[in-house]
Formats: sequence, structure tokens, C-alpha cells
Amino acid sequence: MKTPVCDSDVRSGELCSECRAKLKAGKISALDFEVAQILFKINERYNISNASFNKAIDLGRVVLILTTGEVGLLIGKDGKIVAELSHSLGKKVRIAETGGDVKKTIADIVMPARLLGINKVFHDGREVMTVRLARADMVHLPLDLPSLEQVLRSLLEDDVKLSFE
Ligand SMILES: [Zn+2]
Repeated sequence: MKTPVCDSDVRSGELCSECRAKLKAGKISALDFEVAQILFKINERYNISNASFNKAIDLGRVVLILTTGEVGLLIGKDGKIVAELSHSLGKKVRIAETGGDVKKTIADIVMPARLLGINKVFHDGREVMTVRLARADMVHLPLDLPSLEQVLRSLLEDDVKLSFE
């Protein structure tokens, strides 16, 4: 399984000097390490060796887990893996794919709200990405609007605005 820390660190429960430096530099977080350890334990019972865990983001009520691999692997059959993660972290967990299709990443994050589309517009000489969602789905969003915009902004490294139609 791919995680942001070394396998040996996950096994020993302690970060090596290299990973400690990454932690200090903000490249990885304590939450990343925690999630990696939980996933290793889960891997002893369910085979998720092919899973690739990139980063965990604490969104308050929800922890967002990003993978470059298949989202389904970390969700598990009948949602078993995601349920264990959620139980261990004491928060709701959402798995999203990153590094590939931007539209797919956004759809994973806003689920169960439906993504109608994304548009890029120039505003005052800057590019702004408008993420269009169905107004009826506003109540189904996993997060409050400012947090959601903030997450999308940091993830997509783009100025993001949500719009409801
Ligand atoms: Zn390490």
C-alpha cells in the first residue's frame, strides 16, 4: 500500500528522521500518519495492498482522504473500509480521487450532491473555476459552503466558486 510515510514508520509507530522533516515542513501531517497506521491495520484483515493513500484533510465534521488509485478500494465492499476508517477516526470519512480527472475529484468531494459541471471564467484577469451544483442538493453537501470552497481551492490550486442552479 502506498502512503505518504515509510512502511517501517507505520509498523513501528514512529517517524524516521526523513519523515519527521517532512512533518516539520508541512508536507505530511500527523493525521496522514494516523490514517496510514489505521489503513495498515485494516490491511491485515482486508486486502487493500493495492490502495494508494495520498493525503488526509480534516474538514471538521468530515475527514477527506485522497487517493491516486481507485476510490472503490478504500471504500471497500459494502463500504466496510470507509466504515472502519470512520470508526477509528471518530469522524465521517470521504474518499476522493486526486491527480486525475478534476471533474471526478470534485464529484467525489461534493457527493451526494450532484455536480452539474465546471466552468472556467476569467474575472479581473484571473481564472476562476465555477463549480455548478444543483440547488436542491444544497442540504446534502458534506460541508458548509465556505469550508467546501476552501478545500476545493487548496486541492485544485485554483480560485473556486460554487454556484447553485
Ligand atoms: Zn519515514
